[in-house]
Amino acid sequence: MKFTLQKTCAITGARAGLLETKHGIIETPVFMPVATKGSVRGIPWQTIHDLGAQIVLGNTYHLHIRPGEEIIEKAGGLHAWSKWPKPYLTDSGGFQVFSFARRGKAKIDDSGVTFKDDLAGNTHHIGPKESMQIQRALGADIVMAFDHCPPGNAEKAEVEIAVKRTQAWAEQCLEISLKPHQDLFLIVQGGRHEDLRQESLEGLISLNASGYALGGVSVGESREEVDKVVQSMSKYLPADKPRYLMGVGTPHDLKVAVSSGIDMFDCVLPTRLSRHGSYFAENGKVKSITQKAFTEDLETPLVSDCACSTCQTFSRAYLKHLFLRSELTVYYYLSVHNLHTLINFSKQMRQAILEDRFVQFIAEKNII
Ligand SMILES: [Zn+2]
Repeated sequence: MKFTLQKTCAITGARAGLLETKHGIIETPVFMPVATKGSVRGIPWQTIHDLGAQIVLGNTYHLHIRPGEEIIEKAGGLHAWSKWPKPYLTDSGGFQVFSFARRGKAKIDDSGVTFKDDLAGNTHHIGPKESMQIQRALGADIVMAFDHCPPGNAEKAEVEIAVKRTQAWAEQCLEISLKPHQDLFLIVQGGRHEDLRQESLEGLISLNASGYALGGVSVGESREEVDKVVQSMSKYLPADKPRYLMGVGTPHDLKVAVSSGIDMFDCVLPTRLSRHGSYFAENGKVKSITQKAFTEDLETPLVSDCACSTCQTFSRAYLKHLFLRSELTVYYYLSVHNLHTLINFSKQMRQAILEDRFVQFIAEKNII
């Protein structure tokens, strides 16, 4: 993998770059749609491709439980199995297994997490070694280190343990060899505590990984707390490595992240919102398709200046009708709009950075 920094905004630190992988070159900043179980929920790959997605994220925990990494490896890895030829990133599985711990269904120790799955109730153990072995078999271009992700409201002592464990586990992850086309990203922890984030960052930078991620944000903190962590930490991440903010995905989040020098982000929000009849409005705010004024609004698309196929084709009244009648096509139409909003906004920010007009672009775009 090769990362080339093309341009940095002198005022904000926003960056445009190129990330070269075996399965294609990724232009950053980039929004990565989430293909949890090897498919972006309800959306065919052709549409994901047409929307301009450059890389998708697969979920190690879900793919490990079912169908199991053995069958995916036998098919030739995630790309060949799912027929998505462009780059893939897999998470470590840590986020899901730690959510079992939050529900009192898992035991955490220095070797990893032991838990019973939600499906057959079988007992599993995933630690740094297991996570690397599973991700090696899955064959994504970018694999994530197994980290200890405490909840957003955790006591400082618990976050301190998480930082130390994340460091030890990062070292163990690096010792396990991946496939030649795979690169490992390490994940900075530390919650809301700047001193712990700093400690985590310094320890991980000394390991000289291919890329760095800010983890443990968007796990229950307020929007202001997330913004503060992103704004204060991203400037310390190595300038010559790709920077990834995990699990955020509103236009506001992307604006803050890119303005802070982040290159990559992912979120399930675009497809999840559509299942609740919600969409990204002009200013980036989430709105409902069921609002009263939409019942007879035959003239207006969801968002007036949106170039997505949903906004180019359908009225608000028709989409509201489909949602209220539970017509399955509406989830597709709303997802297309929501995915387009984030992918296109990322592209527009990239273009603005390259053309030295990022600050002006952000001011005019008026994302709140
Ligand atoms: Zn649209």
